[in-house]
Order: sequence, then structure tokens, then C-alpha cells
Amino acid sequence: MKKSALLCLALVFILFGCSSAETQRQIFLMDTIINISVQGEDSELTADKIEDELMQVEKACSPTVPDSLISVLNSAGDSGMEITPELYEILNASAEISRETSGAFDISLGNLIELWNIGGEAPQVPTKAAVAEAIELCGMDNLELSENYAAVRGGVKLNLGGVAKGYAADRTMQILEKSSASSALVYIGGNICVYGAKPDGSPWNIGIRDPNGTASDYIGILQLGDTVVSASGDYERYFEDGGVRYHHIIDPSTGYPSDSGISSVTVVCRDGMRADALSTALFVMGKEKAIEFWRSSQDFECVIIDKNKGITVTEGLKDKCRITDGGYSFEVAYR
Ligand code: AMP
Ligand code: MG
Repeated sequence: MKKSALLCLALVFILFGCSSAETQRQIFLMDTIINISVQGEDSELTADKIEDELMQVEKACSPTVPDSLISVLNSAGDSGMEITPELYEILNASAEISRETSGAFDISLGNLIELWNIGGEAPQVPTKAAVAEAIELCGMDNLELSENYAAVRGGVKLNLGGVAKGYAADRTMQILEKSSASSALVYIGGNICVYGAKPDGSPWNIGIRDPNGTASDYIGILQLGDTVVSASGDYERYFEDGGVRYHHIIDPSTGYPSDSGISSVTVVCRDGMRADALSTALFVMGKEKAIEFWRSSQDFECVIIDKNKGITVTEGLKDKCRITDGGYSFEVAYR
């Protein structure tokens, strides 16, 4: 599934081209494909710095790396441990977004995510009893957090899958801002850092994947610069059983993959962690609540694709979004 997202992005590259003074590389980190494309002076050096930084993020956040900070924190249980300023920043922002979204975004779902094992080997639908048991081992009120200490109590486990790539996007943007790069696109598994403009001065074109299509199909194009774009979709990681698709975005209130009527949410926000977390949260909320939430916020825009092939674009993206697939209906949400 990750590969498909890459192909979609690759298509965008092929369509719109890049400059000659550039570095392009593809790596696999944080359990996902990462595509770095940097234009301008010292692009190799900048790409190296980005790669090093992403390795650091993996060491802090990956649930599959046994000695990552988050794995060690989960194992430390009630006794907790000292944490780095970086981990504090992620946990604190996550806790805040969790409150703000009334729990739709929830990093304390580690036990449920392990139970479903979506994206792992041979995933199976768990029994209702097992889901109910795992829900009991979730809940943000079990996270004790201060600037240099954290503890997760009562067997609860944190999972940063919904926010770590957005954090990585923020760190990447900081490197790009300090570099001599003229422009860059860095794709981190569903999150794209859009830095500067294309070499000809026009905005970058980012394809929005068609949730009902193949990997290279997209329903429209966003024209953007200097921001992070984050997409959450039911096509990213899933398995099927009895004709039902069980995808990786869990509704914390049910313990099951979210059945909100949404196929994908794309969030555009200068804050990458927020873009990443909100794309997951809005997916769980469903279209109406998501638009209500957008109306009450000022710092992001989004594109929501529902299961009835309806596309809702928020007002701030109206002139930056071109829908290219006539098979979808299209509306603009106003404030
Ligand atoms: P994303 O692709 O950004 O939507 O993030 C999905 C990933 O975040 C999943 O693979 C899980 O690791 C984790 N996750 C699933 N459901 C939630 C949720 N409701 N809140 C926070 N993280 C979640
Ligand atoms: Mg996310």
C-alpha cells in the first residue's frame, strides 16, 4: 500500500518535472517509503541531513524498533522514565490534539493497534471480547507527562503512528529552512513537505489519490508552496475479510476501524504534526463533525472524500484545488 502512495507521488514528479541541480533519493525508514527531492545548492548535503534527522525520529518513535524511546517508555510502565525534549514535544502536542478532537485522535491505542495488527503478517478480525479487553487498556488519562518525565500507567501502550511522520515533516522543514535549497518535496509515507516553489516559480502540484482507484490514479491536484500536506486513507493499510475492508484508522470509541463514511482526508497545515494528527482525527469524526471542527479552527484546510464519491474542499483551498476526475461530485465548505 505504501508503494502505491509513492507511485502517485512519482506521477506528480513525472508530470511536472524538476530542475537539474538536484538530489533525488528513496529510502525506507519509519516503516514507510520516503522520497527526498531537493533542488538548489548543496542539495546532496541537505538530503543527507534530512536522512539523518529521519533516522533520529525513527529511533524515538518507532513501535517496531525495540529500543526506540517510545518502546522503552511503553515497557517502563508505571515507573515511567526521563524523556527528551523532542519526545515531550510529540507527546504534549498529541495530548493537546486528543483533547481538542474529543478523543478522535488518541495515541494511547497501542494495545488495540497491536491486537488488530493491520499491515502486519496474517492479520485477522479479533473477537468482540478481545476488542473490549484491549479498549480497557487504552485511554489518555493513563499518560502522566511533564517536561522531562513521562509514564504510561496500567498496561496502556502509546502508538505514535498517527503523528510521527508529521513530526518528521516538521523536522525536515526546519532543515530545509536553514539550508541553501531553493525548493524541495519530501514525501514521508502520506505526508509531504512542500518547500518553496517549482524551479519556474509556480506552485508545486500535489496529486490527491483516488481512494477507489489504482495506485497511480488521482482525483485532483493541489497547488501549494511552503506547507505540509498529510493524507489519511482507508487504502493505506488494510486487510479484507468476508468482503469487509478493515483499515488502520481505529475509532477509539468502538475499538474497530473507523466507519465514518469517509475514504480519505487530506489536511494542509504549516504545522506537520498537526496536519498528520488532524487527518487521522477528521477521518474518525466523519464529514459533518470534521467540517464543524474546521469552522472552529483557523490554521488548516482540508479535502474530504466520502464513500459516495463526494469531495468536500474547504474554502481556503477553493482556488488551489483542481478536480480532474469527473466521476466525483464536488462541493466547497464555507466558514
Ligand atoms: P495516519 O495514516 O496518519 O492516519 O495514521 C494511522 C496510524 O495511526 C495507524 O497506523 C495507527 O498506528 C495510528 N492510529 C490509528 N487510529 C488512530 C487514532 N484514532 N488516533 C491516533 N492514532 C491512530
Ligand atoms: Mg495522521
